[in-house]
Amino acid sequence: MNSPTNPVIRVDTAAGHVIRSVVARDEPERHRARAVSDLCSALPGVEAAERMGAEIVRVATTPDFHPGRPVPVGVVADVRGAVLPHLVGNDIGCGMRMIVLENVSEDDLEPLLDRNLRHVFFQGGRDVALTGRDRQAVLREGLPGLLESIGRGREGLLSRLDLEAAWGDLDRTCDAGVFASCAVDPGFEHYARIDDDYRRDAILGTIGGGNHFVEFGVVDRVADGAYAAACGLARGKVVIVVHSGSLDFGQRVGTAVREALHSGRHGVPDYRILSHERNEPLFERYLDGHANAANAAFANRFLIGLAAVEALRRTIGRDVEHRLVYDAPHNTVWQDGDVVRHRKGACPARGVGTLGGSPYEWIGEPVILPGSMGDGTWLLRGLGNEEGLQSSAHGAGRRLSRQEARSAARLDASLRVVGPVDPNDPLLRGRADVVAELEGRLKEEAPGAYRPIEAVVDPMVEAGMVSRAAKIRPVLTVKG
Ligand code: 5GP
Ligand code: MN
Ligand code: MN
Repeated sequence: MNSPTNPVIRVDTAAGHVIRSVVARDEPERHRARAVSDLCSALPGVEAAERMGAEIVRVATTPDFHPGRPVPVGVVADVRGAVLPHLVGNDIGCGMRMIVLENVSEDDLEPLLDRNLRHVFFQGGRDVALTGRDRQAVLREGLPGLLESIGRGREGLLSRLDLEAAWGDLDRTCDAGVFASCAVDPGFEHYARIDDDYRRDAILGTIGGGNHFVEFGVVDRVADGAYAAACGLARGKVVIVVHSGSLDFGQRVGTAVREALHSGRHGVPDYRILSHERNEPLFERYLDGHANAANAAFANRFLIGLAAVEALRRTIGRDVEHRLVYDAPHNTVWQDGDVVRHRKGACPARGVGTLGGSPYEWIGEPVILPGSMGDGTWLLRGLGNEEGLQSSAHGAGRRLSRQEARSAARLDASLRVVGPVDPNDPLLRGRADVVAELEGRLKEEAPGAYRPIEAVVDPMVEAGMVSRAAKIRPVLTVKG
């Protein structure tokens, strides 16, 4: 049971899995039970997996755990000998990026509220121009590939970049901003046809819909001064948080692999398991496509962060000094020998001594945990908890499904859900502190649709997965 001394719940499933869960405070039991049963039906049974040469070694869920398709969000699973693509989901490489600004104060953000930021991030006015060569480099070699490639020439937004500083930020990027890939997925060859002509990129630099966002905020609480300082944070500092993924790329990889499996060319498949032994071409193709998408997601967040800094620079009329705090994906597979760690909606939260070559090696991995437009974002310190598979929640997680939020949300002034629907709710439209591409969908994103952030952080602190470092209060949120 959930008690203050042991917040970890262990479930032994009928199919033979052991699932260890750290559960959000005040979580209704029926929510948890439903998500666990969804997870069980999505996992191949232990014996079935064995017959296919795979071993499901360990499964854990984080306190932002909630239903998702086809697998709930907030799952970490170690699998030996196979990859389970649906335990990553379609937004491969989706993640968070946090940037701290050095010479900017909260007052400087005010004029941003009056500026139309729509054209900075949404289709139409973005200024991301890349050559085919740059695009190849992104898909194959991630962020360092992009930096290398634009070292030979750049236009538009990228011409504003301090390239040396960008190289310097790489050691504060998870996996140094690159997943190893050998090839470009056939589905992306047209996109990345090698040439030296600059074309506006229709994909990279866009936030993407729904819960993806850019948050301009201020550090208003420091819980661990030494760790926060090592991250460049102190009370009053202005911070940008970017949440975005691999947009079309991840979608196409997931779809292509599913279709290939269903086409039956490779025998009668269990669509949940891909292994080298059973289906080498498809296994290799997934790993390459996954790497392409995760690499694109690193580049995407990098470009969005740059666009955000540039918007602020233009608004206040002077240069903005910025430094990366951290950037990490929360939907990926990591291969560690023959064990593949799958994360779907979970951050890596590794402890001391595990991040070789990073400035965080001896203090623990930063974890960026956003709550909602109302709650802002916690920067946490990863403690490398083994039972929690060195992972953390990646958000507060939904309390209401999108559908429920749309149809059940009457909101109060702080955007809490207080009652049934008001179809013309003015609270989310025309707010200066919220800019959205699709205003009509903002109701789904109301803070009341998410858990309170502390209800997710508290049990993880109790379980020894993370500790608190610094809290960001949101000033302006741009929603995709
Ligand atoms: P996901 O990666 O599953 O799409 O969600 C990430 C998390 O971001 C959600 O669980 C939610 O708690 C958080 N989130 C969604 N929208 C916002 C927002 O506008 N601002 C902040 N600070 N957090 C958000
Ligand atoms: Mn995403
Ligand atoms: Mn995400």
